[in-house]
Amino acid sequence: MELRPDLATRAVHAGRQDLAALGVHALPIDLSSTYPFSDLDGATASLDALVAGDQRAPNPVYARLHNPTVARFEDGLAELEGTAAAVAFASGMAALTAVVLAARADGGHVVATRPIYGTTDHLLTCELLGMEVTWTTPDGVADALRPDTALVITETPANPTLALVDVEYVVAQAGDVPVLVDSTFATPVLQRPAEWGAALVMHSATKFLGGHGDVVAGVVACGEAWARRLRQVRVATGALLHPLAGYLLHRGLTTLPLRIERAQATAQTLAARLLDHDAVAAVHYPGLEACDPTRLVGRQMDGPGTMLAFEVEGGYEAARAAVEHVSLMTPAVSLGSVDTLLQHPAGLTHRVLSDDARAEGGIAPGLLRLSVGLEGADDLWNDLAGALAAVEHLAVVA
Ligand SMILES: *Cc1c(COP(=O)(O)O)cnc(C)c1O
Repeated sequence: MELRPDLATRAVHAGRQDLAALGVHALPIDLSSTYPFSDLDGATASLDALVAGDQRAPNPVYARLHNPTVARFEDGLAELEGTAAAVAFASGMAALTAVVLAARADGGHVVATRPIYGTTDHLLTCELLGMEVTWTTPDGVADALRPDTALVITETPANPTLALVDVEYVVAQAGDVPVLVDSTFATPVLQRPAEWGAALVMHSATKFLGGHGDVVAGVVACGEAWARRLRQVRVATGALLHPLAGYLLHRGLTTLPLRIERAQATAQTLAARLLDHDAVAAVHYPGLEACDPTRLVGRQMDGPGTMLAFEVEGGYEAARAAVEHVSLMTPAVSLGSVDTLLQHPAGLTHRVLSDDARAEGGIAPGLLRLSVGLEGADDLWNDLAGALAAVEHLAVVA
């Protein structure tokens, strides 16, 4: 699958245009918590601008209002997503919380599609942020709208089943209501939801954008009007991204296309071999025709991606045997790292859901989610085949 040729170039250079003029090669890191001023009126004007949602001002004043290292990462990500702006937060959940809080001014109701990331489901269902939620399918968005609907939230590919959502179709149904797409699984390398009309594109930057399992972060790419609202929420609530994390994320962008391309090739190989394995009841991967009935790969997505899920025969106990018998892969939640991660959604990431919500989202007890990393495909397959042998052994003993 061909990736956009200019993407690799932009990933290396985005947010760095002024470095040569500054006389430096690497991204500068500014760790200041406060900033000296020479004239009070200048500092006051800067403060007013930043509190109102400007991204930059002559004096950053205080680290909760602005950080230049984080702003560079935001510029870089916005360029890759094709949006005017991006606003970074302390985590993916902090980013989503900021959007929901900002949207509250427009109404008290949210429409969201299932399946979706477990904590997103939990955050909306428990109504902690004072917004009522209606859960629906991507087909049901239009019917779920109310006069006070302020936001539509969807996720594609969806965590953990890799179900795909046609963003253009959801945006059309939403009409004037802004649509947020959680695009964590795809990254801007594989899809840019703003091109299909999404007002807000969210990432858990903890995953592919950081890419090395050592940063927790979130980011929302959007137009300037939304960015101003999100910066206001960030200034007021303080869910900041630390500048060292901003630096690591920005550095991570440079290798993002390369990492996705390599891991995607391996994921395609593993998906094909899993399909043929007797211990595997089903494989969910956007590259398989059955998983992409409306052919979104090639249109909305530039490739099927690096994430896959599969169901083992024998339910929960079989899934347990599989995750406990890998040795090269890391049995752990999270995704998008250089190493391959295997986890059990019903037991971990989607445990917080009710049984009904899990069933509605297609999260079977025997479902496993694989985030394919950069190891050799044959080494990964040998590891997986060993774990599946443990699943088959369990069936024989039972
Ligand atoms: C991990 C994840 C989140 C939450 O992000 P955090 O950085 O862990 O707060 C949201 N959406 C998806 C799809 C995720 O995978």
